[in-house]
Amino acid sequence: MGLLIRNGEIVNVGSRLQADVYAENETITRIGKNLEVPPGAEVIDATGKLVFPGFIDPHVHIYLPFMATFAKDTHETGSIAALIGGTTTYIEMCCPNRNDDALEGYQLWKSKAEGKSACDYAFHMSVTKFVKETESQLREIVADGTASFKIFLAYKNFFGVDDGEMYQTLELANRLGVITTAHCENAELVARLQQKLLAEGKIGPEWHEPSRPESVEAEGTGRFATFLEITGATGYVVHLSCEKALHVALDAKSRGVRIHVESVLPHFLLDKTYAKRPGVEGMKHVMSPPLRAKENQAALWKALANGSIDTVGTDHCPFDTEQKLLGKDSFVSIPNGISGIEDRVNLLYTYGVRRGRLDMDRFVDAASTRAAKLFGLFPRKGTIAVGGDADIVVYDPSYRGVISAKSQHTNNDYNGFEGMEIEGRPTVVTVRGKVQVRDGQFVGERGRGRLLKREAAHF
Ligand SMILES: [Zn+2]
Repeated sequence: MGLLIRNGEIVNVGSRLQADVYAENETITRIGKNLEVPPGAEVIDATGKLVFPGFIDPHVHIYLPFMATFAKDTHETGSIAALIGGTTTYIEMCCPNRNDDALEGYQLWKSKAEGKSACDYAFHMSVTKFVKETESQLREIVADGTASFKIFLAYKNFFGVDDGEMYQTLELANRLGVITTAHCENAELVARLQQKLLAEGKIGPEWHEPSRPESVEAEGTGRFATFLEITGATGYVVHLSCEKALHVALDAKSRGVRIHVESVLPHFLLDKTYAKRPGVEGMKHVMSPPLRAKENQAALWKALANGSIDTVGTDHCPFDTEQKLLGKDSFVSIPNGISGIEDRVNLLYTYGVRRGRLDMDRFVDAASTRAAKLFGLFPRKGTIAVGGDADIVVYDPSYRGVISAKSQHTNNDYNGFEGMEIEGRPTVVTVRGKVQVRDGQFVGERGRGRLLKREAAHF
């Protein structure tokens, strides 16, 4: 059965068009004014609405064993939350730790999503060590369509790689044409500062930020950039949080280093005073890199507006109140993470577009198109075009609401953005031509999501 979305304003990067979109067999087949309604087609009236390409969250954690516990979402809950918020594709970090076999980890992560996710998905494959079998395993994973890697410069002895392993990973990535994403913080300095602060009796969540200060992130970013420069590989800094690290990344870019930058929702809207809130309220705002001094936000918005920051992800990683309390006696034991998969698009639209910080082009680019291009999904995803997947978000800019844990779909008992107003939300969300969401409710097919196979393209 066909699907006709009528009379909305189609917003792609570089174009806005009042027109109809028709999809058949999962694919957009026609775009034009006053398209005929084929018999049996489902018709959605988008008058007064914006029609966006399905949004892509390039950085989420769904299945994640981490810090003595597990992130709370499953692909059932996470994908429904994503879709309600307008995200039709997410890229999950596949994160076996140093002691796990990479290939077994990859199969495990795939098995958690298959038949469960209601939206389409892909993985960034974490490389958490580099041993004899690593090259052949990574070649097999890339051949399976997972054409991006992730490395952690932080989390020593768990996810973290040393400089030698980073070099080997990037050298291989360069030969394979694979982009490598990186968490850039100096693991040694974090470990030393944690020990020092704890020895001084500084145990509360407000000490998390001082244990991983901006300079520690800037060092990691700079080292990653230097390794990219030497190996010729293409890299992508994940969740960049501060102006200091941004300067380092952009300086490298200006020298011709192939480096891209992602920041994540919390760093645009929250600051380190949130982690200073008393008791567990502070712990709920512990993530890495940490929330920073508010002055950084203006620099991040500006860099996002001019495209120096390529994408906005979430680093979605929900831990509930009880889990956060694992760190009640020491900030180093607070599970790092905050959710955001459901709220990213609405908050970015509200505090970016509506507040005049972002133009519509850059909004669509940062929340969808750029990630599709960088990660080998374009033009199948990330644009509304004939021949592309019919992942469409019909967006109501006149909607008014407030972020609240009470109404959220992600599996958590609080929301780090609680109380923030939103000015707009999706009214209809489709995945490959099927309506999955209507007016904030999931009405679609569970398990519809597919693993997206991607080609290596960064040669
Ligand atoms: Zn992450």
